[in-house]
Amino acid sequence: MTIQLLPPEVITAIAAGEVIERPADVVKELVENALDAGATQVTIELEGAGLELIRISDDGCGIPQKELALSLQRHTTSKISSLADFAEIASLGFRGEALASIASVADLTIFSRTQDQELGFKLDHSSPEPTPLALPVGTTLVVRHLFERHPVRKKFLKAEATELRASLEVVTHLAVHYPQVGFSFSHHQRRLLQVPAHQTSFERLTSLFGTKITSHLKPVKFESPELALQGWIGSPQIAALHRKQQYFAVNGRPVKLGSLSRTVKQAYASLLTPRHEPWLLFELQIPAQRLDANTHPRKVTVRIIHDQKAWSEIQMWLETVLSQTPEVVYPRVGPAEGWALADPGQKNWSAQSRQGSPVTADVLTQELLPWKFDSLDQIEILQIDRTYLAYQTPDGLLLFDQHAVHERILFDQYLKQLQTTSDQHTATSLTPPVLLRLAPAESLLLESLLPELHQLGFAIEPFGSNTFRITQVPVQLQGHSLETVIGDMLHDFEIGQPLHGIDRQAERTAAYLSCRHAVKAGDFLTPDQRRELIQKLWETPRAATCPHGRPTHILINTTDLAKMFKRR
Ligand code: ADP
Ligand code: MG
Repeated sequence: MTIQLLPPEVITAIAAGEVIERPADVVKELVENALDAGATQVTIELEGAGLELIRISDDGCGIPQKELALSLQRHTTSKISSLADFAEIASLGFRGEALASIASVADLTIFSRTQDQELGFKLDHSSPEPTPLALPVGTTLVVRHLFERHPVRKKFLKAEATELRASLEVVTHLAVHYPQVGFSFSHHQRRLLQVPAHQTSFERLTSLFGTKITSHLKPVKFESPELALQGWIGSPQIAALHRKQQYFAVNGRPVKLGSLSRTVKQAYASLLTPRHEPWLLFELQIPAQRLDANTHPRKVTVRIIHDQKAWSEIQMWLETVLSQTPEVVYPRVGPAEGWALADPGQKNWSAQSRQGSPVTADVLTQELLPWKFDSLDQIEILQIDRTYLAYQTPDGLLLFDQHAVHERILFDQYLKQLQTTSDQHTATSLTPPVLLRLAPAESLLLESLLPELHQLGFAIEPFGSNTFRITQVPVQLQGHSLETVIGDMLHDFEIGQPLHGIDRQAERTAAYLSCRHAVKAGDFLTPDQRRELIQKLWETPRAATCPHGRPTHILINTTDLAKMFKRR
């Protein structure tokens, strides 16, 4: 083929591919438009996780009748008009391509009315001219049949529940930074998030996440000639295994800033385990000339000139803040108020297992058990570095990873429980019941896991406004912080991380719980406990690896030993 200019609809589709990858991107663009229009109330309604319908209404300034058709063209915007404006972008949108992109991958209808128009107008593909209609001031965008004409894009989408959570997270992030604006988010008419307008930052956080989170937040403020920062930092108790609870905004634009996350983590230093990330809300003000907002197609991050210098200032300041009266702000021991289950050793943030990425042990997958003794009674089992167990066999030295071994044993137990009906003896009642408040997106996820959790001996029921009532837990969970166990479990499910080779949700739940409750590296085991652990391992059908695929044991045979000592 010879080189030729692509037809306009193909060009638009190419551009749309960068801006709109999933329903959450549509939600982000449209809610940002509403905020740019000065809305005080934004209503988001989805059906089919946004693929069937996304409807976003605002009470902002509206689009004048004569500009309606123009708003759908590419590179049409009311927000900047020159290259000079480009250097000082104050609005969330500025490229004028969102509506055009959405219209190229879905059916888009706009309803809008400005203050000085008597009537509103509707515009969609059915007619080239806007049709008049009685409407309140503001704008409603209706997006139907997203990606219906783009089956390839549709194929790359995740499960509906995941896509829905992504949209909910987008709105949550915006809602965190715009406490003066009211938001409502529903899916098939079921309300998943609702916060009123005119809140303070603290009120907004409490509405979104509950006092279980906000009672662990400390307000912070920092100013230097380079930047101003204002926000909240969380105590180590509410740290999580992910950065979803890090809300950054630069000059009002919600963004991700990986390098700032890393810096802050360094300031928390030993207050957190290497796997944990602190809860943060940072609103940064940076002179516009030091900022490039136009670096990412979906505007999820910005470039900041001399950011490393700014971050090291923040690190030093934060280290001071964190070192001041930590016992007051960061209660290290004991559960948060109102929690029925305490975690006596504060294990939840001081001594997590060091799970690396899963390694598959091909060599060990065959079920040869030459070392299986009828009884281990006469054998001395050593514990090395409080992590490994070892004993001598006729074939050589047998080494075990105590955590992996215990995980395998518990996994089989949990799986059995899942396959039979729930057994009263394995669960324990909680009096008083424990109330668990989650972020909107987490609460959706927990709901989808309730059947499996029920089989495992949990009794959990939705209790209104993203809260769950827990009346019963598996007996193994006694003494653990439910907040931590469930929070971490939800995260691991979402990223599907430590579940190597395990796809079924039930098995994932079992794998998860077994990992949570297995003895950890660093736990001392008595000789009897060591013996019991290994005995039980030999009774499980798949003793070679833990549920994540890491080996439970390794044999260093006599030939290997001889080689190591250069005897052969
Ligand atoms: P951008 O936000 O980058 O300007 P968009 O394609 O998102 O580009 O929107 C194009 C234009 O349509 C905007 O500049 C704005 O004038 C108008 N517009 C879009 N949504 C709204 C809304 N909800 N309220 C008022 N005006 C809107
Ligand atoms: Mg926009």
